[in-house]
Amino acid sequence: MKSYQVPSPGKSLELVEHQTPEPQGAEVLVKTIACGVCHSDVHIHSGAFDLGGGNELPVPVPNPFTLGHEIFGEVVAMGSDATKVNIGDRRIVYPWIGCGECDVCNSGEEHLCNSGPVIGVMQPGGFGDHVIVPDSKYLHDAGDTPDHLAGSYACSGLTAYSALKKGAPYTSNNSLIIIGVGGVGMMGLQIAKAAFNCNPIVIDVDEDKLKLALENGAIAAINPTDEDAMMKVFEITGGNASVAIDFVGSELSTGFGINLLRKGGKYIIVGLYGGELKLPLPLIPIMERGIQGSYTGSPGDMHELMELVRSGKVDPIPVEKRPASEANQTLEDLKNGKILGRAALMHD
Ligand SMILES: [Zn+2]
Ligand SMILES: [Zn+2]
Repeated sequence: MKSYQVPSPGKSLELVEHQTPEPQGAEVLVKTIACGVCHSDVHIHSGAFDLGGGNELPVPVPNPFTLGHEIFGEVVAMGSDATKVNIGDRRIVYPWIGCGECDVCNSGEEHLCNSGPVIGVMQPGGFGDHVIVPDSKYLHDAGDTPDHLAGSYACSGLTAYSALKKGAPYTSNNSLIIIGVGGVGMMGLQIAKAAFNCNPIVIDVDEDKLKLALENGAIAAINPTDEDAMMKVFEITGGNASVAIDFVGSELSTGFGINLLRKGGKYIIVGLYGGELKLPLPLIPIMERGIQGSYTGSPGDMHELMELVRSGKVDPIPVEKRPASEANQTLEDLKNGKILGRAALMHD
């Protein structure tokens, strides 16, 4: 098999040919058809998250390692104990796998487990043309979803859905603000319409992304670098926005976004851009605002989301197809904000 591997953190990906693994026990071998490239791939590739103040959080990945957690592929082999799947099935891979033994995993929140074999982080991912999946329970039918889009539901779609659930219900369109409409934010917009009957206000510094969001049903699109940006949001919401979901997670986005909420509003941070959040302490009780993190989504969230996707209710986000050989360039383009929606690497 072939993999585009990271030799060590921050170094360019290299094409490596190696033995295709044989699935054991309940394992399933999936031949990768397409793998979405996510902004977290950029961070994982760099080897660290920016904690602000000159501090970094290292990502504990093996060396070398194979990125890619938005995998769509075909089942080509399985271990003797694998059930509920057949050779030739085409499936989305749920990558946020936990240890399966701790209290967190047993509560159904495998994605929050501290020591899981997450695919595309701790285990080789979809930048390789074959991927081992520990159990068929992590495979999902994509319905009529096009090949190059399907994998995106395992991270961008799931992450957006799980964050939206934390803020629900949305009583009016004016109640939800989406900050950052890259791949995950665009999914947030589409899923807000499909699952929560809400057309959000979107905020982004990129005019092309704002235009795309308006074409896809946002009720308003605001560029925070405009002088009167904050006033424009207040005019639309009457100061009553109850939820803002921040798909950027930078000092600039949080600094702008958190002040848009009404008293008692909820600020949900999803993006991993990095930095620090500084808040005047008295405003925390006075405004009674909640700040919550949201990280990918649980296996249960994935089942709910895929039901919604298979029913045809979620409008697609734009996904650009690229050959897997362009993995390095794609990471670079994503880092520089040059991709509208998503880019997916296509394997032969
Ligand atoms: Zn991701
Ligand atoms: Zn666990």
